[in-house]
Amino acid sequence: MSAIADNLQAVQARIRDAAVLAGRSPESIRLLAVSKTWPLPSVIDAADAGQSAFGENYVQEGVDKQTALAGRHLDWHFIGPLQSNKSRLVAEHFDWVHSIDRLKIAERLSAQRPTHLPPMQVCVQVNVSGEASKSGCAPADARALCQAVAALPGLQLRGLMAIPEPTDDPAAQRAPFRQVRELFENIRAAGLPLDTLSMGMSHDLEAAIAEGATIVRIGTAIFGERNYS
Ligand SMILES: *Cc1c(COP(=O)(O)O)cnc(C)c1O
Repeated sequence: MSAIADNLQAVQARIRDAAVLAGRSPESIRLLAVSKTWPLPSVIDAADAGQSAFGENYVQEGVDKQTALAGRHLDWHFIGPLQSNKSRLVAEHFDWVHSIDRLKIAERLSAQRPTHLPPMQVCVQVNVSGEASKSGCAPADARALCQAVAALPGLQLRGLMAIPEPTDDPAAQRAPFRQVRELFENIRAAGLPLDTLSMGMSHDLEAAIAEGATIVRIGTAIFGERNYS
């Protein structure tokens, strides 16, 4: 078995254990393998081990991998900051976008989504780390942004995404995830049928699952430490 296949099994075990501890069904949590910076053979190893959903942060890198793996019916999620001038490529190639942080980018994806494709599945990214992060909308703006995004054709609003500041303290990890879940529940109570909480990475997936994550986005624990050079 490849190291990546081993790592995938270990991550799936962590997800199962965290779900059981939280009294949740392990099937309610989807594993997104974050393959940014990793070359094609790593993605193929993971796909051969049964992994079907992949997350990418850089548009062209993601499109290149999709093109090379077109026959495999994988799901591709765009999870990085999205610039307006890259939105068309994303609209034409990805299945999901987790990083909607302003209406303008959602409007562009809506207008640019080809009509022969299913609606783009989208999450609104919320900034729960204040000044420490520039990505994501302010929590106070999330509901209005969700309402506006939900009204756009070509998009299906699924939920919220967040990337809290990293910390090793499990109790401190849970607080921002709880904030996102409460926001999610408020928005659902306002009538939007959200079903997705995209939160939790290699170092904090247990805390995210304890607070209700339905998609965990895992890179390092599957593929190893990234080298950006
Ligand atoms: C890189 C990245 C991840 C994966 O992080 P790891 O710590 O390697 O698991 C998840 N989400 C987003 C948005 C990322 O950019």
